[in-house]
Amino acid sequence: MAVYLCPECDLLQNAPPLAAGSVVRCARCSFTLHRARANSLDHTLALTLAGLVLFVIANSFPFLSFQMQGQITETTLSTGVFSLIEQGKWEVALVVLFTSILAPGLQLALLVSVLLPLKAGRFSPWLAQPFRLFRHLLPWGMMDVFLIGILVSVVKLTDMATIVAGVSLFAFVVLIFVLAAAQSLLDPELVWSRVPLKAPVRLTPKAGELALGCETCEQVVPSRALQEAGLTDACPRCGSALHHRKPRSLQRTWALVIAALMFYIPANVFPIMTVTSLGSEQSDTILSGVLFLLHHDMWPLALVVFVASIFVPLLKLLILLFLLVSVQLRSRWRPVDRTRLYRITEAIGRWSMVDVYVVTILVALVHLGNLASIQAEAGAVFFCAVVIITIFAAMSFDPRLIWDASTPECASGMQPSGPLVRG
Ligand SMILES: [Zn+2]
Ligand SMILES: [Zn+2]
Repeated sequence: MAVYLCPECDLLQNAPPLAAGSVVRCARCSFTLHRARANSLDHTLALTLAGLVLFVIANSFPFLSFQMQGQITETTLSTGVFSLIEQGKWEVALVVLFTSILAPGLQLALLVSVLLPLKAGRFSPWLAQPFRLFRHLLPWGMMDVFLIGILVSVVKLTDMATIVAGVSLFAFVVLIFVLAAAQSLLDPELVWSRVPLKAPVRLTPKAGELALGCETCEQVVPSRALQEAGLTDACPRCGSALHHRKPRSLQRTWALVIAALMFYIPANVFPIMTVTSLGSEQSDTILSGVLFLLHHDMWPLALVVFVASIFVPLLKLLILLFLLVSVQLRSRWRPVDRTRLYRITEAIGRWSMVDVYVVTILVALVHLGNLASIQAEAGAVFFCAVVIITIFAAMSFDPRLIWDASTPECASGMQPSGPLVRG
């Protein structure tokens, strides 16, 4: 029997070993506890190797080129990062570099470094460390959002110049799908099940006993066994810190939500970029960027940018505020729905990066002096801060707190019950 401790509602459950293709969902909050994959090692390894080749191509050849009145600017994937640094916006440059190049590249490299020895039958337990790092990097790869940023940028420039796609762009688009497929076909148990465990921590928690679940590798350990093994707060399998609840979750989330709300105002009031075209200057805020797209009858893109840049950050902050207040008032109102709301904030936050990428791409493409140039402005820095801070705020909120008030008898000491298994 495999034991699961739901990371979102803390319900202890056990299930028989899964057939390939089956999914285990939490019986209480329907969180996906585990998804078993057939031939996971072969499929994931093949996709990851293909991804590495595509990653090298995407970073080595021209990405987009900008042609205006006989002048051509050619860019690579990383040109925008350097242009932002030249303009003194290094904070934004670092975020863009990390989310669009470093995180996806590291994910691929770490995955290959773990899966190749596994395939060759030479797995050693220390490989749990690069694999753990890979798991931590998952939320930070945002190439798909970058692609939407490219679409918006190209539309914005169609009146001004001709934009030509380079080899890298095609490799980049294929890479997005290859990496997404590799991530979804990967069964993490492939790696975790090879890590040897000391005898006491292999025990299944007894009814009524306090157990801790690892947020990285799903290992469930009775806290008594943890003390016996001499491990007080580290996961015996992957080494991540184990917490009954995320430490100081409410204080941290409050602080981050308040900081993000404060930055939200300058992010929307200050211009995010200044466009110089034939000597005349025009500053754009996030909202005026949306209006520009509307005036050019690009309402689907206008809607995308409005939702991603204005609606989503505010919605996310309001949901987090609601969750914080409801937890502090020890509300018992609809814990399942509140857990779902939390899941929404985790999923949508990254899409707000679209406008940050648009600024990066425009700054990289358009620098022909007085003829045409685009400068990143302070609004972009504040906006980037809002997006990153809200992502951290959602990460520091512990959804198990929602359940603590609703069903105190259902904390992790509960009698194990069967989760929902679907083939
Ligand atoms: Zn649950
Ligand atoms: Zn672990």
